[in-house]
Amino acid sequence: MIACTGRQPAPAATRALHRWCLFAMAGLGSVPTQADASIAEYVITVDADAPLVLRGSMRLQAGDTTVWPARHGNAGAFNEVRCSDGRPAETLQSGWQIPQGCQQVEWDVRTVDLNASPADATVPQTGHDPRQGFWLISEASALLRRSDESTGIAVRICASDDCRDSTPLVLPSANQPPLYAAIGARPSLVAQHVAMTIRIHGERPELPGIDEFPHALAETMVHWGDALGIPASRGIVYDWVWLPPAPDQPSGFYASAGFDTFVSQLVVSEDPEDQTPARLRSIIWTGAAHEAFHSVSGRLGADWPAWVNESLASYFALESARQRLDAADFAWIDRQYAHYPEAPPLLEAQRRYDAGDGSQRQHFYVVGVHFWRVVAENLDGVGSTQAKLAELIKQSRGFARVDLSDPIAIIRSIEGSGSGAVPLEALCLLDVDHCVGSPTGIAE
Ligand SMILES: [Zn+2]
Repeated sequence: MIACTGRQPAPAATRALHRWCLFAMAGLGSVPTQADASIAEYVITVDADAPLVLRGSMRLQAGDTTVWPARHGNAGAFNEVRCSDGRPAETLQSGWQIPQGCQQVEWDVRTVDLNASPADATVPQTGHDPRQGFWLISEASALLRRSDESTGIAVRICASDDCRDSTPLVLPSANQPPLYAAIGARPSLVAQHVAMTIRIHGERPELPGIDEFPHALAETMVHWGDALGIPASRGIVYDWVWLPPAPDQPSGFYASAGFDTFVSQLVVSEDPEDQTPARLRSIIWTGAAHEAFHSVSGRLGADWPAWVNESLASYFALESARQRLDAADFAWIDRQYAHYPEAPPLLEAQRRYDAGDGSQRQHFYVVGVHFWRVVAENLDGVGSTQAKLAELIKQSRGFARVDLSDPIAIIRSIEGSGSGAVPLEALCLLDVDHCVGSPTGIAE
C-alpha cells in the first residue's frame, strides 16, 4: 500500500526495491549541468516511425578497450554493438571488446511498449508509451558505459527522417542514482517552484488534489536541497513518470528513484477503507516524497548503506507528510510506520540483508524512521527536528567519516557534532549488544 514502508499492513504488499540503492555510493566528481550536454559523449536517438528501437552511440577515448552495460544491466538487451565504421565489437563475459582504433561505438536496444508489456515501476524498463506519447529511458536497459564518470547525453527525436534535438540529459556517475528519463512527450502537467520545475508524464490517478502535488514536491525538494547544502538541487528539471501497472499487480504504490526522474504506479486496494481519496493522497505523497528525497540526497554522493539511505528517505518523507497532509491523514500514514514487532536492530538487519536476505529491507523503513526521530528530537540547535537532522547531515557531509556499520561510531559522531546526548533508545535501535550498561549505552 505504501511505498517503501516495508513492514506493510496486510493485505497490501508494497515493493521497496529502489534500484539505485543497490549500488554503493562513493565520493564523486562534479556533475555536468544540462547546459554542458553539448559536449555529450553520448547520443541517444529515438524514432517515432520505429518507436520500439532506441539507438545509442558513444564517443570513445584513447585507451578505451571495453564497454559494458550500465548499472549491471542485461547485456542480452543490446543488439549489434559495433564500431561506427561497421566493425562488430567482440562479446565478452560482461561487456564488449572494442575493435582496435575505433573512435565511436554504436548499439541498438529493443524496447517495450509500456502499455502492452506493463512492468513493475521498481524495475523500470526502457520503453515507449504510445498513448501518452513518451519514451522512458532507464540506464540499465539502454546504455553502455566506457567509464563510471558522469557525462552529458544529447537526445535526438526523429520522425520521417527529420530529427531534432530534445532536452539534454545528464548521465549520473555510477555512484549516484541512475539515469531515468522521460523523452519526447509533452508533459501532462508542469509545476514550478523558485527555479525548480517538475514535469508529470503518463496518466496520473484521478484524485482530487493530486495536481497540487508537483508544486508542493518542487518546494519540498528545494527546501531539502538547501537544508542539506546541495546547491545543484536548484534550477533542475525533475520528471515524475506514471507507468501503467500490470493487470495482475498486487495493490500498492510502486516507485523507484533516478537522479532527476522518478517513476511510480498506483494499484488501488480492493479494501474500501484504503480507496478513500484521503488515504490515496497520503500514500502517494509519502511515496513520492520518499523517492524525491533519494534524488536530492543522491547528489551528496554519500556512501550510504541501504539502512541509512532508506531510513532517511522515509524519515524526511514522513516529516514532509506531517506538514502537507491533514492531521488525520498524517496520523493514519504515520501509524503505518509505528509498529515493528520482532524486527531486528538496524545494523543486524543490514548484515542479514548484505548476506542475501532481501526481506530485511523492510525494517530499514520502519525501525529506521524511529531511529532518526529519536536522534532528531534530541539534537540541540534551532528549528524543526528535521531541520536539525538535515543540518547534522550537512555538517558531517553525509556522515562521510563515520563507519555506518559501527553503532558506537555512529552515536559518537552524532554526539561529537555538539548536538547533545543521544538517548540509549537510539543505540538499541541500532544494535542490542551495545545498548545496555552505561547510562549512555556506550562502554566506558
Ligand atoms: Zn527508497
